[in-house]
Amino acid sequence: MSRCYLLLGTNIGDKKQNLLQARESITERIGVIAKPSGIYQTSAWGKEDQDDFLNQVLAVETSLNPERLLGTCLEIEKDLGRVRFEHWGERLIDIDILYYEDQVITSQRLTVPHPEIQHRRFTLVPLVEIAPDQKHPKMNQSNKDLLRICTDPLEVVKID
Ligand code: ADP
Ligand code: MG
Repeated sequence: MSRCYLLLGTNIGDKKQNLLQARESITERIGVIAKPSGIYQTSAWGKEDQDDFLNQVLAVETSLNPERLLGTCLEIEKDLGRVRFEHWGERLIDIDILYYEDQVITSQRLTVPHPEIQHRRFTLVPLVEIAPDQKHPKMNQSNKDLLRICTDPLEVVKID
């Protein structure tokens, strides 16, 4: 079993329900959710045509290798989106792989750790809630330290 950290993001429709359905699909198709963070809201200021985002980070125990994990995340995104948003061509849920064990992967399809972790408060805040002392294998700093030096101005509020 390998431990991975996944970031869920949603800004269309019934967002809490979208997160719930994503967690159900992840449990069925990826593995046991060892630890979920709370649910956080980030306002999309700067992009005023868009609704607020909800984000959640999950620690998941999986037997899938990184490539198959990515494939399954993309399949779940598609399957959940298809239910209600087929004609919009929009995505109901985004699932990103933040970490996979302490592996560093750079391939055409997949970059792990996710290249934006250190730049995004909406990723770091839920990550620090569930894994504050875990070290970023490339930056050699803990999630907590990365949050401390993060300059992203977007406010992140825990709602659940
Ligand atoms: P974003 O997450 O930036 O909004 P998408 O969800 O549309 O963009 O992802 C586009 C592509 O990013 C995916 O098809 C996948 O191949 C690639 N990708 C690279 N690294 C990762 C990662 N760590 N997690 C998820 N997708 C990744
Ligand atoms: Mg994505």
